[in-house]
Formats: sequence, structure tokens, C-alpha cells
Amino acid sequence: MYYPFSWFKSLVKLSLVFLLVMLVGAYFDHALLAWAGFMTSLVVIHYWNLFKLNQWLWYSKKITPPTARGILGNIYDGIYYSQRRARNKRKQLGVLIRRFKEGSEALPDAVVVVDAEGHIFWCNRLARLELGLRWPEDSGRRLDNLIRHPEFVSFFNAGRFDYPIEVPSPINMDKILEYRIMPYGEQHYLLIARDVTQLSQLEQMRKDFVANVSHELRTPLTVLTGYLEMFSMGKEIPPEFLKKAHGEMASQATRMQNLVEELLTLSRIEASSERVYEKLVDVPAILRTIETEAATLNKAKGHQISFEIDSNLLVYGVETELRSAFSNLIFNAIHYTPSGGDIKVYWKANVAGARFSVKDNGDGIAPEHLSRLTERFYRVDKARSRKTGGSGLGLSIVKHVLSHHNSKLEIASRVGEGSEFSFGFTKDMTAKRALHA
Ligand code: ADP
Repeated sequence: MYYPFSWFKSLVKLSLVFLLVMLVGAYFDHALLAWAGFMTSLVVIHYWNLFKLNQWLWYSKKITPPTARGILGNIYDGIYYSQRRARNKRKQLGVLIRRFKEGSEALPDAVVVVDAEGHIFWCNRLARLELGLRWPEDSGRRLDNLIRHPEFVSFFNAGRFDYPIEVPSPINMDKILEYRIMPYGEQHYLLIARDVTQLSQLEQMRKDFVANVSHELRTPLTVLTGYLEMFSMGKEIPPEFLKKAHGEMASQATRMQNLVEELLTLSRIEASSERVYEKLVDVPAILRTIETEAATLNKAKGHQISFEIDSNLLVYGVETELRSAFSNLIFNAIHYTPSGGDIKVYWKANVAGARFSVKDNGDGIAPEHLSRLTERFYRVDKARSRKTGGSGLGLSIVKHVLSHHNSKLEIASRVGEGSEFSFGFTKDMTAKRALHA
């Protein structure tokens, strides 16, 4: 409880004590000595209280101040109350900062707060994942030293932030990010990076789509129309030719159907707006299902297929997309490895995070094809790929799935020795299965 200091009471008290001391001094005929004694004890008391205050301010861990009478007691209380006010203010500010951080973490975009000199003050989790920033290591570093794309650097340093720019992500050149910078608070700037890959790709996709699809559909349609023309001529058709024609037409129809299905999968993935950092995907469970499907597919080929799976290693992502990537690579190894081959599938944690790989000892792929394998409709051997029902879209699907998950397909192959298709996920993207007792 705070009692305001009263000069009047203090003076009355001091005067009474002074009077009493002087009376006693006069009675014993030592008035001067009494006055000197009174003054000295007043100074000693004050110094003692100042000493206690100094000890409390600098060395004591106690929150409450030492007790003292008179004006010094009031000063102690005053210091204590102003400290308490400052502590409460700090607490309120802490709550506000926590709320701001929680709000920014909930945003679907990467957010970085920089000061007037461009030094990073704070960033959210998406900024770490999408822009490759490390926290807290990158705190205080200049943002344009970490996002080094020339267009971004000149935009950042120009200081004119009334328009956004689109540049490739610093950690994934296939991803296009839109950067917006807004002045924020006192001398701070808020950078928001949004993934706009789909938008910029959509236009190109639309153009390529018609050209490629019409090209791919032309062959089966030519076969079908050829037979149909023949039938419409009204000539007698021998039953064995009819059987052959039926088989051929059915296989061409299946090919068109596969093609359309794969095209739909591809366009679904490319246009997918599903966020990959929200749901944990049970990769071991997916791989076990694919293992069963692979065993059925492998009946004709008789390969030795081994699965080495870390059964607790999960990844953040979109389940359907990841399933499609895993199965495409595993089924490709079965299709393109000559009978009796050796195929090894790995899903393991490593220092970087996690790694998936499919290794076969098939014919391998010549170096000139490697960089083009993930292009749509690209096949090394068209005739052979068609025989396996391949449309040339499988690896393109894998590439897009991985790009969506901030990963990249790596292909290592040697002619005559075999191939390895692999990709990794960073630690931020992986998680261990929670084991319940
Ligand atoms: P497809 O649908 O034709 O299989 P993909 O995009 O999946 O198309 O693969 C593209 C090409 O890459 C295939 O046509 C094949 O020539 C080659 N390929 C893919 N996987 C392997 C592999 N494991 N071994 C050898 N060649 C492969």
C-alpha cells in the first residue's frame, strides 16, 4: 500500500526529537554536544539507508525493497513501484510479440521483418522453408546477402516497394516467388514471399498442352481410324484378322486412356494449391502398399526386389502426389530392367533429413538423355516405352511432385550398369512417428 509522504508530519517528528535531545543536553549542561550528536546520528542513519538502497539495487535478488523510515522509505517504495510498472509493461509487450509471431506463423506466405538497413529482424517458419533462411543464425544478416537473385537485390536496394516482383526461389529454381515489401512500424519493412509458380506456369502449360496431346493421340487414333475405314469398306474380313484388329484397337484405346489419366494427374499436380507443410504423410505405409503392387507387376519379370524402409520416418506433404512419385520410380525400374534384375528401394533418414532411392542393375541410360528424362513425353526408346504402356509422363509427374515438395529428382545412370533415381527431403520436411506406449 502506498502512503504519500508528508513533509509536515516528518518535520514535526524531527523537531520533537530534536527538542527532546536539546532539552536533555541543556539539562546536563551539554547542549552543543547534544546538537552535534543529533546531527551525526541523522547523517549516519541517512548513510546507512543509502547503503541499503545501493545493496538492493545492485546486488540483491529480492524484488521488494529494504525497509526504511521517513523520506528514504518513500523513495524505496517509489523505485519499487516504477520497477513493477516497467515489469508489467515488459510482460504485456512480450504477450504482444508472441501474438504477432503466432499470427505470422499462421500466414500461408513466407514473412521476413527487416530493419531500415536491410538486416533480418525476424522470419517465420515458411521463410525458412521457402527462402532457405536459417533461424536464429541469419538474424541480423542482410537479406540481400542471402537472397542473391540480381533482380531481387536491385528491387530490395531501390527502395521503391509500390509493386511486387516475381523471381525464382533461392532454394528451388523451378519455383517462382512473388516478393512484396511493405513499410512496417518504425523503420522496419515486412517482406512477404508468395509461391506463384502455378500462375506463371499455367500460361506455358496451356500452350504446350494442345501441341503435345494432339501429337501423342495421333498415333493411336490413326490405327483406330485405319481399322474402322477397313471395316466400313464392307469387304469380308477373315476371323483371324478380325481378332488381331480387335486386339490392336483395344491396346491403342488403353494407351489413349492411360495417356489421358496421366495427363490429368500431371495437370492436377501442377495446379495443386494444397499446402505441403501441413499434413504428415506415412511414407512407410505407402511403400508397403507399393511393395505389394510391385510384386504383382514383377511376376512376368522375376526381378529381385528389396525394400529397406525406415518404418518411423514420415514426411510433410500431399499423400496422393508422393504416392505417385514413389510408384512411378519403382514401376519404371521394374519395366525398364531386363528380366531377372536386381532392384533396391531405400527410404532412410540421413544428416540432411531423409532420402528415397530406387536402384536397378538394368541397361542404364546414355548421358545425353539424362537431362531430358523429366520433360513431358520424353522417352529414350519410344517403341519400348510404348510396349510397357508408358506415356513419357511418369518422370515429369515425379519432377512436379518433388518441386511442389521443395525437392529435386537426381538421376545417376551408367550404360550397361544400371540407374539410380533418388531424392531427398530437408530436416524441416521430415518427422519421426510418435511412438505411443
Ligand atoms: P514412361 O511413361 O515412358 O515410362 P517416364 O517419364 O516414366 O515415361 O520415363 C521416361 C523415360 O526414361 C522412359 O521412357 C525410359 O526410357 C527412361 N527410364 C525411366 N526409368 C528408367 C530406368 N529405371 N531404367 C532405364 N530407363 C528408364
